[in-house]
Amino acid sequence: MSPTGSSAPLQGSHMTATHPASSAPYTGDARDTRVRRPLRAPDPELHTVTTSDGVELRLTHYAGGHRGPVLLTHGLGVSSRIFSLDTIRTNVLEYLCAHGFDVWLLDYRVSIELPSSARQWTADDVATKDYPAAVDAVRAATGKRAIHALVHCYGSTTFCMAMLAGLEGIASAVCSQISTHVIVPWTTRAKVHTRMADMLRLAQLGALTARVDGYEGALGPLKRTYDQSLRLIPFPAEERCDSAVCRRVSFMYGRLYQHDQLDVATHATLHELFGVASTTALEHLATIIRHGRVVAADGEDRYVPRLERMGIPLTFIHGERNVCFLPASTAATVAALSAVHGPERFERHVVPNYGHIDCIFGKNAAVMCSRTSSRISTRRRRSDGGGRALACLSCGRRWVRAARRASASGTARQRCG
Ligand SMILES: [Zn+2]
Repeated sequence: MSPTGSSAPLQGSHMTATHPASSAPYTGDARDTRVRRPLRAPDPELHTVTTSDGVELRLTHYAGGHRGPVLLTHGLGVSSRIFSLDTIRTNVLEYLCAHGFDVWLLDYRVSIELPSSARQWTADDVATKDYPAAVDAVRAATGKRAIHALVHCYGSTTFCMAMLAGLEGIASAVCSQISTHVIVPWTTRAKVHTRMADMLRLAQLGALTARVDGYEGALGPLKRTYDQSLRLIPFPAEERCDSAVCRRVSFMYGRLYQHDQLDVATHATLHELFGVASTTALEHLATIIRHGRVVAADGEDRYVPRLERMGIPLTFIHGERNVCFLPASTAATVAALSAVHGPERFERHVVPNYGHIDCIFGKNAAVMCSRTSSRISTRRRRSDGGGRALACLSCGRRWVRAARRASASGTARQRCG
């Protein structure tokens, strides 16, 4: 793929002029000399979106086709690069482009690739300021009344909060790993109840970072002690690891992936994918975990009482071995939504042998892609009589047909990868 300079400014009050970019993923690190494979995607256009409180977000647009715009949003302490990683055979971006979707990767205010990630934010900020600006920008640029969304982890939490706060213009969404309700293992509960984020603030650590070797930030001279102490965290034998970045990731968020679901090259590039997470964001996340559902940063039950606002087709994907947010979390969300809207609009799939973020950039990330595509193509078949069922790249399974069989049998589970 060659660099491109053909990016015309988009329409929309919040969107500013674009600038050229190449199809190689953004590195954000001048010392990074790793050779990357070219992506099987159109050359991207970068767009800056300014929120109502003046924060600049980034939308990276890949004009993959005419099957409708899809907005992809990442989790906390990472960036949109989780969707365009070149160390796996086919990433989410490439899959969606290959199937004709118009892909928009959003880096919102906590993205480790934006300067704003160095400041303190809550999930309320993301939900009520970033999502409206980004969705409006994509709608204005594409002329579509409503767009699709694929949202992961903190991106899904904040997306659902945005919906419950009144976000408009979403036709359907795939929510990965978490949504409105949060159930965690006892180890996470213990960490939350000891108010770890509060202690970090008292220690004057504005943020935690997964990056090492020159990126210790506020840790400074404590870095070595910190990394050595993380070796004491007990893990199952198959998940023990010598990577300092990997151990920091597990300490900050819980174990996010099954090692055997990651390519060796992906594991070796974790330092590119994970970075800083502010204590304010972690604090708010801890408050949400203590309440067992999304609440405002001050603990006010502002969101879940408005479940009537989430009456769109939603698909929930959960890794069976997710020990960060247990699969019971999305089961609780589906039950709560179904009580309000009936069960017809909601699907939930528990993916065997997957953890949390390996559903996005594991060896067979196409599992996630195929669910997104099949949801959208299902809607297309209903609306315009076109489209076709898509197969999972990893096993060839016809997802739409399989989903119907699972639904008929009442299992609501998929086997894939
Ligand atoms: Zn590891």
